[in-house]
Amino acid sequence: LVELTHVEKYFGDLHVLKDINLTVNKGEVLVIVGPSGSGKSTMCRTINRLETIDSGDIRIDGKALPQEGKELASLRAEVGMVFQSFNLFANKTILENVTLAPIKVRHMNKTEAEHLAMDLLARVGVDSQAHKMPSQLSGGQQQRVAIARALAMKPKVMLFDEPTSALDPEMVNEVLDVMVELAHEGMTMLCVTHEMGFARKAADRIVFMADGQILEQNTPDEFFEHPQTDRAKDFLSKIL
Ligand code: ATP
Ligand code: MG
Repeated sequence: LVELTHVEKYFGDLHVLKDINLTVNKGEVLVIVGPSGSGKSTMCRTINRLETIDSGDIRIDGKALPQEGKELASLRAEVGMVFQSFNLFANKTILENVTLAPIKVRHMNKTEAEHLAMDLLARVGVDSQAHKMPSQLSGGQQQRVAIARALAMKPKVMLFDEPTSALDPEMVNEVLDVMVELAHEGMTMLCVTHEMGFARKAADRIVFMADGQILEQNTPDEFFEHPQTDRAKDFLSKIL
């Protein structure tokens, strides 16, 4: 479903992505781990073209990433993204946050979009907050709204970049639980996270990145029990 081939990316002189080759099949859940600065966020951001690449090829459902305009907008609609910071529109209600894109991009009528939004908000457990403003919600609730908002576009794949790392500890699990549920429902997911419990529970494959390269890709059991490279062993010894 998502295919990166020989992807290279520089920020000036800094070589941030080095010959990245990665295939994500439909329904697969990948967890991307690695030290700070290894290029995890940058790789995620290239997939919906929030970052351009210098060479290589990225395909979603067999189609090359469009450069700009309408086609790029429709590609972005297929790729849901949830970041560390919640990025909700502060001056819109929770319900409006979720209905905005389906109405604008998918040309859904308002009633239909609101039905969909309420269903999704119920799914992530915040339907009772629909008429509040984002600032009236806890971080964990806001992040669940961000997930519902991304799902409202019926994306083919969901990208998560450290969705729980800005949350107070007691709110981490309520967000991870939603992600585990999505994974079990068959959503195709790429998740950058330091939550190794989640990785073990939900990941089909762990992708270990260091210095802009993918050094290992393995099942959680294999990766955690038998890391192959010194970099991965070192990384695991620091976080486990
Ligand atoms: P972290 O775990 O800290 O989030 P990461 O693996 O997500 O790290 P990236 O954010 O992808 O790492 O960054 C990879 C490298 O690219 C880092 O050295 C970073 O400083 C650099 N970098 C990221 N974004 C930019 C940018 N817009 N301009 C210049 N350099 C950047
Ligand atoms: Mg990052």
